[in-house]
Amino acid sequence: MEPMADDELIYLDNNATTQLDPVVVEEMLPFLTSYYGNPSSGYGFAAKARKAIDLARERLAALLGCEPPEIVFTSGGTESNNTAIASALRFELRGRHVVTSAVEHSAVLHPCQDLAKRGCEVTFLGVDRDGNVDLAELEAAIRPETAIVSVMWANNETGVLFPVEKIAEICREKGVLFHTDAVQAAGKISICLRDTAINFLSLSAHKFHGPKGVGALFVNRRTRFQPLVAGGGQENGRRGGTENVASIVGLGKAAERASQYLSEGKTHVRSMRDRFEKAILETVNGAAVNGAGAARIPNTSSFSFEGIESPAALLLLDRHRICCSAGSACRTGSEEASHVLRAMDPSGDGARRGLRFSFGRFNTDAQVDRALEVVPKVIEKLRQVAAPARGSAVSSVATAR
Ligand SMILES: *Cc1c(COP(=O)(O)O)cnc(C)c1O
Repeated sequence: MEPMADDELIYLDNNATTQLDPVVVEEMLPFLTSYYGNPSSGYGFAAKARKAIDLARERLAALLGCEPPEIVFTSGGTESNNTAIASALRFELRGRHVVTSAVEHSAVLHPCQDLAKRGCEVTFLGVDRDGNVDLAELEAAIRPETAIVSVMWANNETGVLFPVEKIAEICREKGVLFHTDAVQAAGKISICLRDTAINFLSLSAHKFHGPKGVGALFVNRRTRFQPLVAGGGQENGRRGGTENVASIVGLGKAAERASQYLSEGKTHVRSMRDRFEKAILETVNGAAVNGAGAARIPNTSSFSFEGIESPAALLLLDRHRICCSAGSACRTGSEEASHVLRAMDPSGDGARRGLRFSFGRFNTDAQVDRALEVVPKVIEKLRQVAAPARGSAVSSVATAR
């Protein structure tokens, strides 16, 4: 299994970001070249851009099962999350308490930690071994002064799905706003917001084959809203700043493509993931799937492997041109173990031994075959290296490089 220089890149990190769909690029290009008018200008030339934004809004609304005016375009998932939470706290007169989970993405966790430092009370709900939240515990955490509950739809590290529609109902009964970070759910599972009690939903284009730096916040039309970014009257006064026209067009096209794939069941992402997961469990001793007992999105496999450490595994896999991650891309380089896996198993050391493989529709069966050849050998090699002096695998592999 000597790595060859011309080995094809095998990108199995689609929860970190995805390849831009060439059809999306095609749709964006005219708005980077010809149609550069400011959508807010009055002449016909600018109307081209304005109409393209309207179309993107309709396409995204179709993916989400909501009304186009309920969509606010933003710079991505992070801004959408910050906006929803800030809006609830600035507007809600009920008080200053937030309920969230311990396994959220840092784009929810960090704003909540900041709020806690500034005197807002935050409840971080724990999860069980499979990554599930306890709904009775969630309900009990809601207080008279709670302004918002924010719980992700699908976890970026494990793919575990939270029953956000049920949680939204609980919140509605209690008269509390509900936000969901759906960055890993949008485009991967069917969503129909008009049947739900969800007030706010965040998504990001680059997680479903759209461009980076653009996303959206769904704001239910009956939900009071306070902008985070004040400026010109763009986005119907809900998000100031000249629109990122080409990127918004790309987001719309990516949403349309995702809708098609979802409705036609055309994607073989789930079958690739399932085949990979099954084969790894069969061929590698001491491998366990994190969140195996929970409902999960169809593209994610999070493993913990006995006798390895994630950073060394990533180094070796990179030499074979396999891209995957130890959890979230945001912490690469830091030695800190995954907060998600730690929350699922606080007493174990699975969090240091985690590897996440996330598939996308540009992956092929041949790539899955290649990964199934390489991954077991890499794990085996790491265990041999680690056996004499467990814990030193990182440095010995690094020097062998
Ligand atoms: C990637 C991700 C984000 C951040 O989205 P950006 O568009 O990169 O800001 C937020 N939440 C989850 C669950 C994610 O996976």
